[in-house]
Amino acid sequence: MQYPYLTVPLGQHRLPKLPYAYNALEPVISGRLLEIHHSQHHKSYVEGLNKAEVKLVEARQRRDYSLIKHWEREIAFHGSGHILHSIYWTSMSPMRNRWETPGSQIHKYIANYFGSFIAFQEQFSEAAINVEGSGWTLLVWQPAWGRLEILTIEKHQNLFQAGSIPILVMDLWEHAYYLDYLSKRKDYVRSWWQIVNWAMAEKRINLALSVQMPLIIT
Ligand code: MN
Repeated sequence: MQYPYLTVPLGQHRLPKLPYAYNALEPVISGRLLEIHHSQHHKSYVEGLNKAEVKLVEARQRRDYSLIKHWEREIAFHGSGHILHSIYWTSMSPMRNRWETPGSQIHKYIANYFGSFIAFQEQFSEAAINVEGSGWTLLVWQPAWGRLEILTIEKHQNLFQAGSIPILVMDLWEHAYYLDYLSKRKDYVRSWWQIVNWAMAEKRINLALSVQMPLIIT
């Protein structure tokens, strides 16, 4: 069987390198904040995910599932943290070399579903300002229905809308903005639009558009 995926060996997830320098997103996100966020917070998710995978191998070998609830929670929590942070880094790019507006494909789907780019941006920002706790805001492609949606995640290990594919991801945990913006989350959200990586969003939507998820209703 042709296996089209690059498979990560069990327990060997690695912290991805940032596609830019720690200070490259200044003045929107400071170098110090980005370094802590990436080299400490994201790293701990990678380590936690690897540990949970290894512990589950041991459980299968010993057929001892007494801690299954704990390790299933760990694998979801750290796995989501690793994936969401990885997409978050590529959702942003340095101001000087980014596309200033969305590409044609993403603009078309945004305008079709949200009415206009301004309406999309306003809803996304409001969702980001209001999400509680360890929050995220995402623009996703839902292949089951062939359209975009804005979703928020309060506890990132919980499934939000099954099957949806993240196009753009914004981190709203306090560690994503507190050093730079203190409690002024609104200022972080509004400034963030200056570093959105629209080139990557266009790439992601084109990949997402190739996914077919037929709903079978009899
Ligand atoms: Mn984070």
